[in-house]
Amino acid sequence: MTDVTFEGLGVAEPILRALAAENYTTPTPIQTRAIPALLGGRDLLGIAQTGTGKTAAFGIPLLQRLSVGHFPPGPKQAKALILAPTRELAVQIEQSLRTYGRFLNLKMTVILGGVNQNTQIRNMSKGVDILVATPGRLLDLVQQKQVQLNAVNTFIVDEADRMLDMGFIRDVRKLVALLPRERQSMLFSATMPDDIVKLTHDMLRSPERIEVTPQSKTADRIEQKLYFVPAPQKRQLLGELLKDVAMNRVIVFTRTKHGANKVAEFLTRSGVVSDAIHGNKSQNARQRALDMFKSGKARVLVATDIAARGIDVDNISHVVNFELPNEPESYVHRIGRTARAGGEGIAISFCDASERGYLRDIERLIRMKIEPVAHDLPELTEEQRRNQEEPRRAHGHRHGKPHGHNKGGHKPGGGRGEALPHGDPHAPAKRNGSRPHWHRGNDKKRTSAA
Ligand code: AMP
Repeated sequence: MTDVTFEGLGVAEPILRALAAENYTTPTPIQTRAIPALLGGRDLLGIAQTGTGKTAAFGIPLLQRLSVGHFPPGPKQAKALILAPTRELAVQIEQSLRTYGRFLNLKMTVILGGVNQNTQIRNMSKGVDILVATPGRLLDLVQQKQVQLNAVNTFIVDEADRMLDMGFIRDVRKLVALLPRERQSMLFSATMPDDIVKLTHDMLRSPERIEVTPQSKTADRIEQKLYFVPAPQKRQLLGELLKDVAMNRVIVFTRTKHGANKVAEFLTRSGVVSDAIHGNKSQNARQRALDMFKSGKARVLVATDIAARGIDVDNISHVVNFELPNEPESYVHRIGRTARAGGEGIAISFCDASERGYLRDIERLIRMKIEPVAHDLPELTEEQRRNQEEPRRAHGHRHGKPHGHNKGGHKPGGGRGEALPHGDPHAPAKRNGSRPHWHRGNDKKRTSAA
């Protein structure tokens, strides 16, 4: 095949210049397919996760179309609306668009929850070309009549499956209902559970469908290691591993916010500069932690899955799964934080006795066995052994049961059968009334849908 270039895809000069400055020499596969389709006005369904270059895939054509025959936006209006599930992702999308659009004269802003709304209202007062928003706060400001959606001609939903997991789908639907029918729309999702398939039917018109790097493939460029280690020795093992200076930019994943704090505190006590990022922290604290990590001032970022979703930091040397995720897809998302944009990376997982079930699910999904590595930690002390034998108190775990109790509910490999007909009585009510993600049963038969 001849080499594809951004120029060959029809990208205009000011954007080419910005891309060259970023050293984007070759379009990624999703960009190669999406850019011409979107420049041609098509709708798009992108089945892709972060790391594939999807932001530029939708961002470049968006910027280009908005700058041709540009006219100023009306007060409180936005011409393009991008919805993202998390605040970090929203900020990041806007940063990327600013980068690609730095030689264009387009106005953009971000609306997100967790921070004071006044600046956002002020930023919207004269209108913008591009608005990046999380759904809840945007809906709020629309209801307060501080934002109008009747001039939106381009609509993008990013990480739609995460919107679903986080209970935002109903808000997304409400927002869709407020948009002009005549518009270009795009939806990106790493997976395609039923509710997202339905949303795409309601939201997109004969979309170009682009599917890149099926989930189970992402792992290819990543060296994966596994340590079987008792829970009480995980910190010690992490400390030992971090003596290796090659681990210079590390994300450590825990399942719970509490766990994230404890690991970060332990590392700080051991002299490793680190910070935690999770949903209980204020937006400012999260951004601060992220900036410290991005700038290299912190060597380790400890994160929960949701907080880390979409975080785009280049050159992450290692991902450590301090605790295995209870959703096998999260493993793929996590390790995809390293080896971004064609690089290579190392993923290290700790697995204790209670996590064997999670490990089996993961290995089934990625269709490979992760090779265990021996460690030379000493035998457990008497105290550690006692701690281990106590039933584990599951901080933040929804049922108050110990981890690893996934015998029936959590179905390996998308499994047997139907989604549970009604919710778990202990499960928190979701704002949108959709089933909590740990009950989504067959929805997990994802990428084949749509
Ligand atoms: P995304 O999937 O949008 O989160 O992008 C993943 C990473 O790839 C980001 O760090 C982008 O800056 C980078 N990236 C996107 N497109 C290209 C490209 N064509 N060449 C090199 N890097 C890229």
